[in-house]
Amino acid sequence: MAGIRIENVTKSYGGLAVLKDFTLDIADGEFVVLVGPSGCGKSTMLKILAGLEEASSGKITIGERDVTDLAPGDRDIAMVFQNYALYPHLSVARNMGFGLKMRGTDKAEITRRVADAAKILGIDHLLERRPRALSGGQRQRVALGRAIVREPQAFLMDEPLSNLDAKLRVHTRAEISALHKRLRVTTIYVTHDQIEAMTMADRIVIMKDGVVQQIASPDVMFREPANLFVAGFIGSPGMNFLQAKATAGKVRLFGQEVALPVANAGLLDGREVVVGLRPEHIAAGAGPVAFEVAPRLIESLGSEQYVYVDLPEENRRRGGADDDGRGHSLIARLLNPDGRPPGEKLTLSFDPGRLHVFDAATGEVIR
Ligand code: ADP
Ligand code: MG
Repeated sequence: MAGIRIENVTKSYGGLAVLKDFTLDIADGEFVVLVGPSGCGKSTMLKILAGLEEASSGKITIGERDVTDLAPGDRDIAMVFQNYALYPHLSVARNMGFGLKMRGTDKAEITRRVADAAKILGIDHLLERRPRALSGGQRQRVALGRAIVREPQAFLMDEPLSNLDAKLRVHTRAEISALHKRLRVTTIYVTHDQIEAMTMADRIVIMKDGVVQQIASPDVMFREPANLFVAGFIGSPGMNFLQAKATAGKVRLFGQEVALPVANAGLLDGREVVVGLRPEHIAAGAGPVAFEVAPRLIESLGSEQYVYVDLPEENRRRGGADDDGRGHSLIARLLNPDGRPPGEKLTLSFDPGRLHVFDAATGEVIR
């Protein structure tokens, strides 16, 4: 096992810059998740780490070795892809041992490692089957097994769960986490799914358009997002965004003066800010800041309720709502709800200490 250092990596295809100055230090044994929307450069970064793509500039170190110019086979890392790329004509055991065989590993050693990995993954009863006689979840495990038998310095995983149905995905997610706790192999895991990132990562790297937005633990990512993009990406339903002008350290939200929870709020005088409030930080009934609304829509999920409220004109995002409609409406996530029809008046409240404040022009957090 080894730590990995990525220094100032850039990648362009023709004129298109896909990765811009990507820098990341990964500790030995760490589980790091690269997350971001489709096309943000996650797979490209992973392929550069694996040696399947060449960086336009920058440096990659695994352990103490500069591997920037090494071939994939010389990097001592194992990759698990979204499509498992198993050989259809080989048994599970031979699929798992294939890479070792190609390296000329001793036959008895291959058998031992395959048996060990199969046991860890609970597929020891499937070793003689062909891939077509396996379920999606079982194939996925064979692909993991093939990586494990290599006993590599690091695992690279590119959306390894996205071909599984929702239930199996949750199950396998937990299995991969348990596997990591057991083997402690440095892992870089790519996904577009913020829930996978939050549940699996020691640290999350959020990317947008080839640029790292924030690197932090799941907890910090949720509590202290660095900008509007991160704030909107992490959490479901996403954070509510309300626009307002700061005056004397306060803003008007739902027609009320609310103190901004930032240092030197007075210095913000006259500035346009976006105030962020998570749906779960809004409660039904009285609270420090309470306001009356007539919900446009109420979604009941049994144990909780999503209450949709139109924002007052003055709190709507200038320039329009984002793709999720955020910026024009507010969602409150209420636990233990009572059955109330939409349209009926309802009091909601929040603690202003829970507000996040962002510069409306740059999107950067103001603390
Ligand atoms: P992600 O994995 O985050 O969805 P990718 O790393 O696959 O994103 O792609 C990042 C960007 O690079 C995309 O805009 C994609 O179209 C582009 N891209 C990826 N591979 C190539 C290639 N071989 N040639 C040109 N453009 C590419
Ligand atoms: Mg990808």
